[in-house]
This record gives sequence, C-alpha cells and structure tokens, in this order.
Amino acid sequence: MKIAILSRNKKLYSTRRLVEAARARGHEVDVIDTLHCYMDITSNKPTVRYHGEELPKYDAVIPRIGASVTFYGTAVVRQFEMMGTFIVNESVAISRSRDKLRSMQLLSRKGVGLPRTGFANRPDNIKDLIKNVGGAPVVIKLLEGTQGIGVVLAETAKAAEAIVEAFMGLSADILVQEFIKEAGGADIRCLVVGGKVVAAMKRQGAEGEFRSNLHRGGSAELVKLTKEERATAVMSAKVMGLGMCGVDILRAERGPVVMEVNSSPGLEGIENATNKDVAGMIIEYIEKHAKEGNTKTKGN
Ligand code: ADP
Ligand code: GLU
Repeated sequence: MKIAILSRNKKLYSTRRLVEAARARGHEVDVIDTLHCYMDITSNKPTVRYHGEELPKYDAVIPRIGASVTFYGTAVVRQFEMMGTFIVNESVAISRSRDKLRSMQLLSRKGVGLPRTGFANRPDNIKDLIKNVGGAPVVIKLLEGTQGIGVVLAETAKAAEAIVEAFMGLSADILVQEFIKEAGGADIRCLVVGGKVVAAMKRQGAEGEFRSNLHRGGSAELVKLTKEERATAVMSAKVMGLGMCGVDILRAERGPVVMEVNSSPGLEGIENATNKDVAGMIIEYIEKHAKEGNTKTKGN
C-alpha cells in the first residue's frame, strides 16, 4: 500500500514509529507536511498539491494534526476524503475532538461517565456554576490548554470565583469541573485503535501535583483496566468517530469518567510504558480497512 502521514515534523517519535512500522510491513510511506499542502477546490476533480506537484493517490492517510493547525489541517484531510482516500481519523471526528465542549456534549448524550462539568460565557452566575458541579474544590480549565497548562485546582469557592472571573475578564473560554480527588493525581490513558483498547498506561503526577501530565513531571506505568474502563474507552472512540485515539480517564468512586479524547495521541509514552508496538497496530488497522471509498464523511 501507499500510505501518507500528515505531520509537521518527520523527526517526532510518533511519526518516525509510524514510518518504521509501515515500512516493516512492506508499505510505501510518505511524510507530508500538512501546512505545505495546497488544494485546488474549484476543480471538480479534487487533488492535493505539494511542492509544485500533484500528490499521488494514497491508499490511506494518517493525520497527525497538532491542535494549533486544526483549521487548515482538517481542510487538507477533508480534501483527501473527497478523493475517496481512507483516513484513519476523518476531518469531522478531529474537529469534534478538538472542541472540548462539543466532545463532552456528545459523550454525555451517549451516557459515557464524565466529571460534572459546567461552562458559561458570562460571569453573571459564577456562584451557581460552581455550586452546580458540587462546590469547591473544583478544577478550572482553559479550553485551549494542553499538557496541563491552564488547568487549575481551586480549593475554596472564593478562590474558584476569583479564578473564573479572571479568566473571563481575559475573554478566555473555560470550563469548571468537579475535582475527582480520589483519582489521587493519576489518570489512565487508553489507546484505542479500530474499536479496541490496544494499550493502556497509568500516569501519576509528581509528588504534590494533581495533574498527571508527563510534561508536568508525571510518570507512566502499565495498568490493568477494568471491563468498565475498557468499555468506556471504546464507547468514547465510537461516539467521536475516531479510528485511533487516546482516551483519558479518571478513576472516580462512581466509576470511570472521561476527561478528554485525543485524536493525535503521542506514541512514545504509551509504547515505552507498555512495550507494545502501537504503531504496528495502527498499520494493521489500515491494512484491514483501507479500501477505496471507505470514508464515512466524504468531506461532509
Ligand atoms: P490537558 O488536556 O492540558 O492535559 P487535562 O484536562 O487532561 O488537561 O488535565 C490535566 C491533568 O489534570 C489530568 O491528566 C488529570 O491528572 C488532572 N485533572 C484534570 N481534570 C481533573 C478533575 N476534574 N479531577 C481531578 N484531576 C483532574
Ligand atoms: N505527552 C503529553 C503529556 O504531557 C501527552 C500527549 C498526549 O496527549 O498524547 O502527558
């Protein structure tokens, strides 16, 4: 097969591993810099051009679209969909997962466990917003944050109100969330490929840190999932329509609650923690599903 990986940087661990795994299975693979793709959308024959040439017809595209290039990146993915190319994560699914509110609304509609979460655009009812998620302590998150930056724990209602007010004063979109204390500064990252959890790790925050992000000094280890956790991760991927994703779960007393579904999950942490060839499993998923026209949305 001929596979394209849409990635801004060939040197990234995840990109390198996908290239390696594809070649090891005898496929041809090109790494295409998403932002250097350009398209002629007036023609009725959709194509993608790159460095002055039309890109060949790929059997499959693996999008690794960073959060900061979602808008243009999903347009490029959409163009491949219109050409009938099989895409591991389609444009609509990527857009869904990038919008935390939209994701949570979709997940809640299907009854997936979630932390009690509130969001608002105006500071008129901050007290009620906080009370509604169970009162302090609460977690306040910047919608645009990644790697744990912009995730704040407010111990008291007064602190929570002040933080919400400050963020709203800066016109930043935020959400207010029930603090899952019993998670003990840990979360579970489940890697779902083709509707199955293929690897899972527990990330534990550094001493005195409630955020488990590896970028914040957290550490990762292999974890055994409960049936319910596994089902929650699989359901989340299905609701979002993602062929491959990372589902972040907190272990709450009432059962697993989903924090986030990531459409470009990093492979380094999970492969190291579990010793699994996740990249290889992504390529195997492509081998099974990459048929011409096997795209759900066709650019819609
Ligand atoms: P980011 O997307 O920036 O990583 P997250 O929403 O995943 O932000 O939060 C970062 C970390 O903070 C999580 O991995 C988790 O360990 C912790 N955390 C986030 N929300 C909660 C919550 N409601 N209760 C307890 N811990 C949380
Ligand atoms: N490496 C990121 C961290 O700090 C996680 C990246 C991802 O979401 O896959 O945990």
